[in-house]
This record gives sequence, structure tokens and C-alpha cells, in this order.
Amino acid sequence: MTETKTTAETAATNRAISLAEFQGLIRRMYLDKDLARGIDGTFMWLMEEVGELAAALRSGSQAEREAEFADVLAWLATIANVADVDLSAAIARKYGSGCPGCGKFVCTCADSEKP
Ligand SMILES: [Zn+2]
Repeated sequence: MTETKTTAETAATNRAISLAEFQGLIRRMYLDKDLARGIDGTFMWLMEEVGELAAALRSGSQAEREAEFADVLAWLATIANVADVDLSAAIARKYGSGCPGCGKFVCTCADSEKP
């Protein structure tokens, strides 16, 4: 069977890809496997990738760092798909109007606070 790319997928290979497009690509590529694995198993893979990112940040090349950032984001998108969370909508809701703590676009929260 020949897989044909959607217009959005073809466009995505030729330019910057939006978060929504990326989550859709991850959904198309992996959703069946991700649903079978479930949130718990998928979360373990995310944590493994976070560890690999830490190692790449500490001692990897720039190409290795870039690859690990991509992997972490892919596994985060995977979990969001399994949990039925639209990442783009979620970040727009939480961060689209500024810092969730102070409401400003350049955060003015105290250094002792998380943001
Ligand atoms: Zn703030």
C-alpha cells in the first residue's frame, strides 16, 4: 500500500512545521502503537528521552542536541495524543496571553516563583 502525504505533510517537509502540524504527524505515524502502549509506558519513553537530552546538553554535538530536542517533543506529542490533549490549544490557553503567573509578556514574577 502506498502512503500518500497530505498537503500539510508535504508542506511541512519544506518549511518550518507548526506544533499542531507536528502533533498531527505524530498522531498519524504512531497513534495505534501509542494507544496500545498506553500513557504509563509512553511516559517512561519520554523520561528516557529527557535523560538522553540531558546527556546531549552536557556533552553532545549541536546535531545530537537538536535530535534529542526533537525526540523529547515527539514523545510529549505522543502522550498528548493518547491523553486527547491538543498541545497547540493548551499552550495558547495557558501562555498565549502572557506569563500564567503575572500576566505579562516579559515575566515580572519574583525569582523565588516558578515562572
Ligand atoms: Zn510572570
